[in-house]
Amino acid sequence: MQSNYSGYIGRFAPSPTGPLHMGSLVAAMASYLDAKAHHGEWLLRIEDLDFDRNVKGAEQSIIDTLQRCQLQWNGAVEWQSRRTSLYEAALQQLGDAVYPCGCSRKEIADSQLNNHASLVAVYPGTCRTGLAAGRQARSWRLKVPAGIGSKIHFNDRWRGQLRQDLESEVGDFVLKRADGFWAYQLAVVVDDAAQGITDVVRGEDLLDSTARQIYLQKILGLQRPRYLHIPVVTNASGEKLSKQTGALAIDVSGPEQNILANALLPAARFLGLTDMALEARTNITSFWQQAILAWQRRLEQHANAATS
Ligand code: GLU
Repeated sequence: MQSNYSGYIGRFAPSPTGPLHMGSLVAAMASYLDAKAHHGEWLLRIEDLDFDRNVKGAEQSIIDTLQRCQLQWNGAVEWQSRRTSLYEAALQQLGDAVYPCGCSRKEIADSQLNNHASLVAVYPGTCRTGLAAGRQARSWRLKVPAGIGSKIHFNDRWRGQLRQDLESEVGDFVLKRADGFWAYQLAVVVDDAAQGITDVVRGEDLLDSTARQIYLQKILGLQRPRYLHIPVVTNASGEKLSKQTGALAIDVSGPEQNILANALLPAARFLGLTDMALEARTNITSFWQQAILAWQRRLEQHANAATS
């Protein structure tokens, strides 16, 4: 198992839209355990590009919570808001593959009314050949290829072989938004490459973005990391935990036993790490030692199951 994974660099990349909740702690824990189980590094990157959704003080609260949980990252914290020149350079590199688009969300959604098979609005390519007279550029989109080049195949370490057809399932996608903010898809690809990320471990709500990111890596000439998408934590109504669905901040107040009982053990159980040795931990350092061993065992079992 180790040989393919030398030089592992993983990351946790929260958006500071609120304090850490159970869903984001689970993503942090999975990416941390996977990095440590491979003797790798684990970086922290604050994805604070959406200035409308950023919540004042949320970055510090996330950082404090990670520290209370002893989720210690390597090196300095990166902030996407300080890296916009890199995104601009990538946009320039893409040249004619990028074009200005004058469509509003409503126009794109209205163009799909007869397409019941699609849950997300596939961009119909309206501005691909130029803005119509009188139209203003709102966003900048990337042309996706037609035919075979649009079919992206990738391996998810947990779910196996997956594929998405960019042309029919996504359409030309936005790299710079109508509000002037850099789109997540471009920033994440540029940063993962610039930080030398070898392994992306995150919630499966981002599985649908992975093909777009792989296509961007390809045309920018960047390395493709390995991917592992973990199930997302949902509330009683089956909605993904998030600030929008009213997820509560995790409680990391009080002594270590409280942090174990209120945060770390529930997150570990969600990830299927339920062994008694873990449950019996009374301090956070030994919790992490035990959890890393449990994750390593799990990877071994998974590798054995795949080869048998
Ligand atoms: N910033 C994204 C989020 O908080 C995660 C990005 C990623 O892991 O690729 O949902």
